[in-house]
Amino acid sequence: MGSLIVLLVLCLPAVTVSYIGFCLVSPWGTCRRCGPATTANRRTCRTCDGTGMRPRIGWRLYVHFRRLHRDGTR
Ligand SMILES: [Zn+2]
Repeated sequence: MGSLIVLLVLCLPAVTVSYIGFCLVSPWGTCRRCGPATTANRRTCRTCDGTGMRPRIGWRLYVHFRRLHRDGTR
């Protein structure tokens, strides 16, 4: 049981770093509501504004903290 917790603790930073890298490589995901396949109702989709693309949650966090940092250091 103890070794399992150690393994999880060791894995967590690796997963976080790879997720951050993944968000930096492709910050835009496909819209879950209209998706890449359905183009018929994309124009009326309010989730993505008709683009079919949505920013990932990690990217949105990055933008949020970058804005906080910029406002704080002005
Ligand atoms: Zn959409």
